[in-house]
This record gives sequence, structure tokens and C-alpha cells, in this order.
Amino acid sequence: AGELDGRHALVTGGASGIGLECARALAGAGAAVTLVDVSAEAVAARAAELGGGARGIAADVTDEAQVEAAVRAAVEASGPLHAAVNSAGTGTFGKVTDLPADEWRRIIDLNLTGVFLSLKHEALHMADGGSIVNLASLNARQPGIGFAAYCASKAGVEMLTKCAAMDLGPRRVRVNAVAPGLIDTPLTAGLMGTEVERDYLDNIPLGRTGTTGDVAALVLFLASDASAWMTGDLLFVDGGAHTM
Ligand code: NAD
Repeated sequence: AGELDGRHALVTGGASGIGLECARALAGAGAAVTLVDVSAEAVAARAAELGGGARGIAADVTDEAQVEAAVRAAVEASGPLHAAVNSAGTGTFGKVTDLPADEWRRIIDLNLTGVFLSLKHEALHMADGGSIVNLASLNARQPGIGFAAYCASKAGVEMLTKCAAMDLGPRRVRVNAVAPGLIDTPLTAGLMGTEVERDYLDNIPLGRTGTTGDVAALVLFLASDASAWMTGDLLFVDGGAHTM
């Protein structure tokens, strides 16, 4: 029997990359999985591939009404949530003097407010003792040139995670964040094999970039009862890059 048998897990950004791999891991452990992502077609196709009764729901995580409706539909179909993974997010580059204000707002809106709206409505529909895992980044702690908006959004996710853990502790709902280093996904495909990847590799003790499976293994641990006494933490999964 799987460690998540009979449980319901929701994954935002579940149609691609890290979110999709987390959904696979959760389904593999026996959970009924709901994928939430922007494209109705993509989310339905990925859910069908997962099988096992996985369901896809289209919603934009920056729109509270859509998030609320998506979580409500998920719970109506598959029951109260026991686990949620908030992986919807994106990157951007631009030095502070070049970054249009609208681009700053877009990144904060998606990467930080999107996580807030998701965890708010997930928590409202979560069974006591459930677990929420937010995708932060190594860049929550490590600044980078031209990376202000992304780094600030992820630093915000870390502190949001800690405060939410305090707010939800009385219900034994746990909230943790994971901080991946460079992971090969559709988001970063353009960086692989370039100077950017080589610069990263110089600063990764374990000498390779990460896979979505590296991240999903940690997320599965945090979503399961194996981590029952952990909340409010940020855990690196980065080949040791945070030590450099
Ligand atoms: P990805 O682009 O492969 O997947 C992100 C998914 O989020 C996509 O399916 C996209 O459609 C969805 N999404 C985007 N905007 C949305 C919205 N408004 N509402 C709902 N869904 C939306 O990216 P990924 O590499 O898997 O990244 C997932 C998360 O992991 C992000 O938060 C990212 O910042 C974080 N992360 C990634 C890396 C990396 O190297 N890939 C490293 C650290 C952290």
C-alpha cells in the first residue's frame, strides 16, 4: 500500500516541469491527484497521462476567484485535501534599472501572490494534519545579477511559508518550502548547455544540475507523514550550491 493511499493532493503548475513530476510522485504513492494549470487542454492531457483518476482543472493562480473555484471543484470531486504543492511560477531577467515596473509586478503577482492565494484556499479546504509545500528557490537566499524580481519573489515565498506555518499550526496543517538549484525543465531548457549552466556547475559541489525527480523526492517526503514534525522550514535541493 502507498503512503498516500486514500489521500487527495493538489498541484498548481502541475502541467509541466517540477509540478508534473511532483504529481507523478504523489500519484505513485497512492494519492488522488488534481492538477491545476492555466491551459485547460494541457492540464487535461497531463492528467489523462497520469491515470489513476487524476483530474485537471484550469485556473490562473493570480486570480483569487479562479483559485477558489478550482479548489472547490477539486474538493467536490475528490474530497478534502491532504497535500498541496504550489509550483506555478516563472522567471525573468533584467537589472533593476532596466526592469519595467509591469514586469516586476507580473513576477511578484505570479510567484508570490499566486502562492499566497493558492495556500489560502488550499488551507481552507484541507483536512487537519495536511501538508502544503511551496516551490521557493535557491534564489530565495542567493542573489544574482539581473535577478532582483525573481529573487525577491522567492525570498517572499520563504517568509510567507514561515508565517503560514504559524497561522495553520493549531490545525496541524504543515507548510514548508523547497529551494531547488538549477533544474532541467521547460522553464530552463534554454539555459542548458550555455555559459549560464557552466557558471552554475562551477558552484555545485555534486557537479551536476538537478532533475525534476530530485525535487519531487523531497516534495513527497514533505507531503507525507514521514515529515510529520516539520513545518515552517525551507529545504535546499541544489547539489550543495547553497554552501558556495
Ligand atoms: P515550468 O515552466 O516547467 O512549469 C511551470 C508551470 O506553471 C507551467 O505549467 C505553467 O503553465 C504554470 N503556470 C504559469 N503561470 C501560471 C498561472 N498564472 N496559473 C497557473 N499556472 C501557471 O517551470 P518549472 O521549472 O517546473 O518551475 C516550477 C516552479 O519551480 C516555479 O515556481 C519555479 O520558480 C521553481 N523553481 C524552478 C527551478 C528550475 O531550475 N527549473 C529552480 C528553482 C525553483
